[in-house]
Amino acid sequence: MSDQYTLEDREEAIHLKSAWGNVLSRLAKEVPSNVMERFLKLLRPEGIEGHCAVFAAPSAFVLEWVRDKYQPKLQRLLGEELGHDVVLDLKLELREKPVEVPRTVVLTTPAVVETPKFVPIEKYGFDNFIIGQSNRLAVAGARAVAQAPGQIYNPLFIYGSSGLGKTHLMHAIAKEILRQDPNYPLTYVSAQQFVEEFVHAMQNNRIDQFRKIQRGIGLWLVDDIQFIVGKDKTQEEVFHTFNHLHQMGKQIVLCSDRPPKELYLMDERLRSRFESGLVADIQLPDTETRCAILLSKARQQNVPLDHDIAMFLAENVPGNVRILEGALIKVTAHASVEGRAIDRELCEMLIEKHYRGIGLAKPSFNQILELVGKHYNIPVTEIRGVSRKAPIAHARHVAVYITREITRDSWKHIGGLFGDRDHTSMMHAYQKISEMMARDHELNGTIKLLIRNLFPEI
Ligand code: ADP
Ligand code: MG
Repeated sequence: MSDQYTLEDREEAIHLKSAWGNVLSRLAKEVPSNVMERFLKLLRPEGIEGHCAVFAAPSAFVLEWVRDKYQPKLQRLLGEELGHDVVLDLKLELREKPVEVPRTVVLTTPAVVETPKFVPIEKYGFDNFIIGQSNRLAVAGARAVAQAPGQIYNPLFIYGSSGLGKTHLMHAIAKEILRQDPNYPLTYVSAQQFVEEFVHAMQNNRIDQFRKIQRGIGLWLVDDIQFIVGKDKTQEEVFHTFNHLHQMGKQIVLCSDRPPKELYLMDERLRSRFESGLVADIQLPDTETRCAILLSKARQQNVPLDHDIAMFLAENVPGNVRILEGALIKVTAHASVEGRAIDRELCEMLIEKHYRGIGLAKPSFNQILELVGKHYNIPVTEIRGVSRKAPIAHARHVAVYITREITRDSWKHIGGLFGDRDHTSMMHAYQKISEMMARDHELNGTIKLLIRNLFPEI
């Protein structure tokens, strides 16, 4: 039963929301603004069930109009954003007070194309972000930026592995600035979204317009910048936008899963720009911070959680904060379904069931080799061997890439694992795969899947 509340569900909802945001910004470039405002922007993504994306419309009129005129287009765009086919399921939103919707629509082409306003996620504020040793510098930097954009740390570069609060902090900066000035011209984009919009603008001969929009920004928040590694044209564009904004004294905030110096294949000029302000890391939080995060999340959700139990979870649930939150969702769901309190016994049972055995330990080198070997159907001994045959060498390079990604061990150490190989050949293998992944979607997907398979619980 608890599966009704899994972490994946929540992530899917967030994913849908962000995909919908992208669809709206794409549509805004071609659909008249009154159609956007009076119809399309009124739809609310509710959730996704298999291939069915459920959207609520505020009135029957809006619902029918959208279904009539836009359903196929919305399905296509949403499908592109989500990466799979979707069917749009429009339903009526049940509200106490129906929203006033005009019956006549004047279709005019807007003179200026506006990007939709960014709305930070409500709960991602500074007030909900727990500070600990692991994130102190990043929070201080983010707060300083929110107080005085463009004046202290510019750019602010925050890095850390997944699920440690980078996106939360970016939203917190935006939220704080918009609280002070709701019209502040700020933009939040994931680097992936930036690439897509840039490519779209190039294909449609709208690059001037794209640049005009980029350069009118007062605060530029770019999430997951590692995504543009190996994408030369996009890097060039980011470089020019960066310089333009920076020279104008506009604030830039970047997040990445690794420090600038480890962004191999990133244009050197861009990399040094990234390092020119404050570079702040976020590490895995210690047990006390994890406990405080759990208590804070529980309070926000009105879940009664004792300090002892929070501590027990903080000590025993392995991994990042997202996983920790997932554990809270699991215990809460179990407690409510079974009509029992969140006690030690319940937590022990769930930890045993879901988290035992993964510990904080990373997969071993042998596990990585076996998985890659199995995937490519090549014996492990060959992968560690000396053959230069293309398929074997490729599997070896993939294994090097995954080993480095997961263990972050030194090149020298990794060279040792692969049978005393030179550390530069390990670096080259890694770079080669990074480069290929940037160009080859399929390989990218395969490697992400392999990595995911090494962490069955994540
Ligand atoms: P990232 O962007 O680094 O992958 P997110 O910002 O998406 O991570 O954070 C994952 C989840 O963990 C979010 O729900 C976020 O609210 C939560 N989180 C991470 N760190 C903290 C913290 N210090 N205090 C409160 N919540 C946190
Ligand atoms: Mg993030």
